[in-house]
Amino acid sequence: MTFNSGVIELSGVGKELTKKLAVLSIITVGDLIENYPRRYEDYSLITKIDKLRPGAVTLEANIIQASGRYVRRGMHITEAIASDETGSVRLVWFNQPYRAGAIKPDQQYFIAGEFGLRRGRFSILNPSVELVSDFPVNTARIIPVYRETKGIKSAYLRRLVREALNLAKDLDEHLPGWLIKGQKLIDYRKAVMEMHFPSSSEALETAKRRLAFEEVFELTLAALLNKYEFTKEAALAIPFNEKLAKDFVGELPFKLTDAQRKTVWQVYQDMSRTMPMNRLVEGDVGSGKTVVAAMAAVMAMEQKFQVALMAPTEILARQHTETLQTLLGNVGYGDKVGLLIGGLSASQKKIAHQRIANGDTGLMIGTHALIAEKVGMHRLGLIVIDEQHRFGVQQRKKLQAKAGHMPHVLHMTATPIPRSLALTLYGELDISIIDELPPGRQEIKTKICSPNSRKQLYALIDKELEAGRQMFVVTPLINDTEASGGVSVEEVYKQLSEHEFKHRRIGQLHGRMSSAEKDVVMKKYLEREFDILVCTTVIEVGVDVPNATIMLIEGAEKFGLAQLHQLRGRVGRGNRQSFAFLMLSDSKAPSVRLQALENTTNGFKLAELDLRLRGPGAIYGNFQHGALDLRVASLSDTKLIAAAREAAQNFIDKNEDIEKYSHLHRRVSKLRAVTNLN
Ligand code: ADP
Ligand code: MG
Repeated sequence: MTFNSGVIELSGVGKELTKKLAVLSIITVGDLIENYPRRYEDYSLITKIDKLRPGAVTLEANIIQASGRYVRRGMHITEAIASDETGSVRLVWFNQPYRAGAIKPDQQYFIAGEFGLRRGRFSILNPSVELVSDFPVNTARIIPVYRETKGIKSAYLRRLVREALNLAKDLDEHLPGWLIKGQKLIDYRKAVMEMHFPSSSEALETAKRRLAFEEVFELTLAALLNKYEFTKEAALAIPFNEKLAKDFVGELPFKLTDAQRKTVWQVYQDMSRTMPMNRLVEGDVGSGKTVVAAMAAVMAMEQKFQVALMAPTEILARQHTETLQTLLGNVGYGDKVGLLIGGLSASQKKIAHQRIANGDTGLMIGTHALIAEKVGMHRLGLIVIDEQHRFGVQQRKKLQAKAGHMPHVLHMTATPIPRSLALTLYGELDISIIDELPPGRQEIKTKICSPNSRKQLYALIDKELEAGRQMFVVTPLINDTEASGGVSVEEVYKQLSEHEFKHRRIGQLHGRMSSAEKDVVMKKYLEREFDILVCTTVIEVGVDVPNATIMLIEGAEKFGLAQLHQLRGRVGRGNRQSFAFLMLSDSKAPSVRLQALENTTNGFKLAELDLRLRGPGAIYGNFQHGALDLRVASLSDTKLIAAAREAAQNFIDKNEDIEKYSHLHRRVSKLRAVTNLN
């Protein structure tokens, strides 16, 4: 029997039980062994009957006078007496009619259960009993408690796990010896054994450490191997031109923040190597990532390289085009910026393609169209991916394939990744963090609102609008025909324009409008022809309307934390006081998540919280996250993570051949497919 054997090979497991075990995601013997307990109950202390105190107890005793009867229809009681040399105590089981027959006289049993007063008599209720042996699984030890399902209780799983641990052949150590020794890890067989059936709480901790270490080691090794595979490819070096960088910075209407300057410098150093850059710039919304992208782009363009900038939405692509035309225009590259998106007319597209093909366009900005269409880039030196969590690895590969060689890649994201995650899942990337906002920004005031405060809220908002400010209203839905839950753009638009805000100019924007329509609306909003823009989350990322100071989110509880933070980031981009109102669908108490938004505007803190509340898989929703949700390790264990990462680096530095370690190889290969950045 091996890890890969089906559970059906275990004694007593037939088709029915196989199905039930599958509910718990236990298909193979390996799944069973890696299905670690959710918690433990300590029945390790054996008590004499005269010393019994209410609570969880274990006895070592004889059992006599076991007998069962129905007290009424559907209610069966088994009673027995357990006795040792100090006294005796009543045992009671409900609806376990087989009990009486299963108990043999004159045998020593371990009896474990809750001792307490019931209907005026002391007894132990529904105890587990096992013949005294050197390896009890349900009594006389720290007992594992598993996730259960109908027909599969912990007691049954204990027996099964015990058998699997006895029979599985591949419990031999599968990590390199130097690693086990260096990290003072216990042997794998011992670790899984102790994890299920701890011999003491200290032994359990040691086992957990070993398994947690292995888990994080595998994750980081997967990420690092991905990283090295990437850097093995040859890129074309883009030398640093100091004068150009200085000219560019000199033309900016503001001073770069220190964080921006540091990030740009790291990017320039990366690009000047023949190893392809694979850097992630993390910076909260509004921290000024676009300038960093512009500076990277201009350096590449100066060397006659083409640059592709991919944005997650057409709106954002258009906006980037305008911003970058201005920024690059300052140093004479403005008319080398081109837009290529699905929403262009056929003739516009044709021109865009031509300009790319003949090199007139040095910086092409677009969405998926950049990959989907046959774009004749010839000297792609740099790819900038804005809000990278929207792009799949396949898409990235396509762009790379198009270039013929490996271009430098710069990812930018406003979804902050907690450091612990960055070091594990994102280990394949170099990371720059823009951890300061440009000066003069005011903290966005965030408030959770319940529907019965709507009137006062609207009055307050109208004052801001009167003063010339603008408002976004975000709803979860486009129209009412969608699946229930939350208000729609159409509904809110109608309500506001016919009632509360009929004296204001209101626009609407959602994903089902054509690209041209969206564009017109967005332009009007930017030019202040609308006071209010009712929209869906199409405006979630990147859109920059400095005069908009109010973000009203309807049905706020329907959005994720990261998403709400992004939405909030659409305001507060000028230097005026901005507001975010999180309107709940009903007057129930707000969740911890929403309260966190009220209390902090720090995206990193929110991401840490989200990670704690929902786990990594849920945050980075677009990968198959089952594999990411750690079984044993905790992402808050920074010491362990650092050690595991170092070990993974050592593994690579030692030129270890992973194929020599088949178990490790199998697991790491699987993880490489998942962690390869979304
Ligand atoms: P994000 O990081 O969210 O992409 P942007 O690049 O859109 O942020 O920048 C947000 C706003 O801040 C823009 O209007 C930009 O011009 C401005 N900005 C960027 N850097 C600075 C700076 N160092 N000082 C002042 N304003 C800046
Ligand atoms: Mg941006």
